[in-house]
Amino acid sequence: MSKTPHSQLFDVIVVGAGLAGLVAATEATASGARVILIDQESEANLGGQAHWSFGGIFLVDSPEQRRLGVKDSLELAQQDWENTAGFDRSEDDWARKWARAYVTWAAGEKREWLHQRGVRFFPVVGWAERGGAGAQGPGNSVPRFHITWGTGPGLLEPFIRAARVAEAKGQLTMLWRHQLDDLVLADGHVSGVRGTILQDDNAERGKASNRIKVANFEFFAPSVIVATGGIGGNLEKVRAAWPARLGTAPESMVAGVPAHVDGRGLDIAQKAGARLINGDRMWHYTEGIANWDPVWERHGIRILPGPSSLWLDATGKRLPDPLWPGFDTLGTLEHLRGTGYDYSWFILNRRIIGKEFALSGSEQNPDLTGKDIRAVLARARVDVPGPVQAFLDRGEDFIQSDTLDELVTKMNELSGENLLDPASVASVVAARDGAVENAFGKDGQLAAINSARRYLGDKLVRSVKPHRLLDPKGGGLIAVRLRILTRKSLGGIQTDLDSRVLDFAGEPIPGLYAAGEAAGFGGGGFHGYRALEGTFLGGCLFSGRAAGRHAGGVDARS
Ligand SMILES: Cc1cc2nc3c(=O)[nH]c(=O)nc-3n(C[C@H](O)[C@H](O)[C@H](O)COP(=O)(O)OP(=O)(O)OC[C@H]3O[C@@H](n4cnc5c(N)ncnc54)[C@H](O)[C@@H]3O)c2cc1C
Repeated sequence: MSKTPHSQLFDVIVVGAGLAGLVAATEATASGARVILIDQESEANLGGQAHWSFGGIFLVDSPEQRRLGVKDSLELAQQDWENTAGFDRSEDDWARKWARAYVTWAAGEKREWLHQRGVRFFPVVGWAERGGAGAQGPGNSVPRFHITWGTGPGLLEPFIRAARVAEAKGQLTMLWRHQLDDLVLADGHVSGVRGTILQDDNAERGKASNRIKVANFEFFAPSVIVATGGIGGNLEKVRAAWPARLGTAPESMVAGVPAHVDGRGLDIAQKAGARLINGDRMWHYTEGIANWDPVWERHGIRILPGPSSLWLDATGKRLPDPLWPGFDTLGTLEHLRGTGYDYSWFILNRRIIGKEFALSGSEQNPDLTGKDIRAVLARARVDVPGPVQAFLDRGEDFIQSDTLDELVTKMNELSGENLLDPASVASVVAARDGAVENAFGKDGQLAAINSARRYLGDKLVRSVKPHRLLDPKGGGLIAVRLRILTRKSLGGIQTDLDSRVLDFAGEPIPGLYAAGEAAGFGGGGFHGYRALEGTFLGGCLFSGRAAGRHAGGVDARS
């Protein structure tokens, strides 16, 4: 057993160098605490999932919204959150308090807090997760998805900078390839961590690394913060937690998160007495595509779709209203699981894909990630942006054709199941196209597109003018096979508003904190059943901040 020579010198141990861990560590050092931050991966993975993220941030009544004529308010956002979360369990008590506190923060201090740290936002606010089931249904009543200038890496920047400064001052020690295996308990207090030092590994960021043990370690401190992320990279765990209300777990899925999102940290916290709740609540997407250039195993990319693609299930039936692209993530997942197939289809054309397909992920948006204004403006001049064209050229889920008949034949070939009848797909397309001529009509999706285009942000960059899919000026037909893509765990370790971990009796476990996805972004699941989007990174900031401040300022001193 190798004990660190300076094992008595730390006030706080943070496990996990993702966004939540970095925020917690730097908040704790800012309170004067001496902190050690350990991570099972190599330094190449600094920042965890947030590095890969699109950097979408939920803000309420921001200057960016106001400039685009969006009228938002704390009351409207609280109402949207409650309707979306659908809290209905007694163990939701703390999650509900977290939700209220978080929305208040998002409508108040959050933007300024980030601004002071140098974070800026793209001026066009996105309208993610629109709902569509009425004012009291789930979803965002108004656009709230603020894209960080620099995407995920841009959001991480100030926290990595602060960590480097604290490291240089000797306040923060970062240790890589240190895998937590156990929390050390003494008289009901958590007083340290135990684990395995793993063999060095040159694996690139995001790829699975070896688990070869070279030594053990033990560190002690009055406070330990668990920020180890969720379970989305462990497909077996996802299947095991799959709730019956979403049908059966898919046999075939793509992974939307890197290999390190393995869920082990949750089990370790549970072993130390932490109460894990809401494990059956998760946020997976139905618009996943296999990455043609995968980083991790079964790497999937999520399409953030504009509203115009025609969505068919595997047998060719159009999805019911309001399950249009970008409206209701879990409603769509639930519906598609009911079809008995693990995939569905978008049918669209080149004009739609060019304007309406955004791909989630920092590496899929080199212009925004690289803060390259010219390249961002150039998007408007090309018919299809480069990263989307790369999928058209090389993505295994993409099909192109000039005729619908041939397109459907190729779709059947790709699935190998021959489930699509060309005549019935043609009649679905014809019915949809026939409804385009008027700016009014009984087609719900077209009405929703017309309504979306009254929002300037959508009209400018996210939705094309309704037109016939078969219009020759549409630039050729496209079909995309959509798979289920794992992403976020909405449940996790139950915490109070100071990020203190609670046991089954609802009492804080002295010395133990949790933050970020491991804590269900706060309280063991502040989203409830569903998310408004852009709320995950923000949940890491908010809960990491609370954990770092409290552990660094309160327990570290006692
Ligand atoms: C492609 C992509 C796009 C996304 N886009 C958005 C978006 O636009 N908006 C949004 O709000 N959210 C988005 N998200 C979600 C968001 O990025 C994550 O929910 C968030 O970054 C999770 O951060 P975390 O710090 O809690 O966990 P993680 O980033 O998973 O970090 C956990 C760290 O803990 C380490 N660890 C785990 N177990 C152990 C152990 N036993 N011992 C030691 N170390 C351990 C891991 O190696 C990892 O470094 C996106 C995610 C992805 C992947």
